[in-house]
Amino acid sequence: MKIAFIGLGNMGGGMAANLVKAGHEVRAFDLSETALAAAREAGCATFPSAKEACATAEAVVSMLPNGSIVKSVYWDDVIGHAPEGAILLDCSTIDVATAREVILVTQQHGYQMVDAPVSGGIAAAAGGTLTFMVGGTAEAFARAQPILAAMGKAVIHAGDAGNGQAAKICNNMLLAIHMIGTCEAFAMAEKLGLDAQTFFDISSVSSGQNWSMTSYCPVPGVGPVTPADKGYQGGFAAGLMLKDLKLAMEAAEAAGAKVELGDHARAIYEAFAKDNAGTDFSGIIRTL
Ligand code: NAD
Repeated sequence: MKIAFIGLGNMGGGMAANLVKAGHEVRAFDLSETALAAAREAGCATFPSAKEACATAEAVVSMLPNGSIVKSVYWDDVIGHAPEGAILLDCSTIDVATAREVILVTQQHGYQMVDAPVSGGIAAAAGGTLTFMVGGTAEAFARAQPILAAMGKAVIHAGDAGNGQAAKICNNMLLAIHMIGTCEAFAMAEKLGLDAQTFFDISSVSSGQNWSMTSYCPVPGVGPVTPADKGYQGGFAAGLMLKDLKLAMEAAEAAGAKVELGDHARAIYEAFAKDNAGTDFSGIIRTL
């Protein structure tokens, strides 16, 4: 299949390479020449503009930094340039309202489109083990599914347009809350004279058990190998967690949802990310 891929950064670069490995003809565009060179290395054809990458494409995948960029790329470069009948997939993490607007407008121009944000970081993008949460009609989902399956281990239909983004920000708000809670528990255990490994052994099989503890333990040398074991480098940057929490708070306000812990988590990550935006989000334990 001919697939245009727009946005070949940390995530998109690995995802596009996996589409090539699955036998697709990938037509890549990014503003960064370095990203384009890496895409060529991975077997993509590169183009001088998104419009040209979209021409003749049967599908368009985008992996871009934020909602306003997604909007401008779809308005200026995709609509009217990708052939009618192309399926459009935006995998960026953006606000729910913009995701719904972009899907509505592309539908009005005759396209089918899904929002398909991902869970999993750069390693999962490179390894083809992302989880995709997908919003859109059943028909659009059925068309998007095999393309996404080439880049991930799970592709889940979350409902109508924008529901992929809704699932993503609700999930990441919960992740932020249980990471902070897990860090507080380890820090308090230490102050009470309880060894971190012993606390892990007990809590990981007790009612405090959660993913931040057992799969992403914020204490070096405890549990599986995590960014904590690498000086809190790699993994999921605090700046990106803050971005997702801000999107979650915007969505909560628009929907009238009460998210006191989510808002507190946003404030904690906002303070942390001022000087540590590139640090893994589990590094929050250093502040406790
Ligand atoms: P990145 O900054 O590494 O990549 C974004 C790419 O988009 C860059 O290469 C940039 O040059 C390109 N770009 C920007 N504007 C463009 C335009 N107008 N046309 C074409 N290309 C353009 O970011 P990333 O880490 O790859 O993240 C991409 C998206 O994935 C974000 O929405 C992010 O929130 C989400 N995400 C990231 C992670 C992660 O761990 N990095 C995890 C899950 C989701």
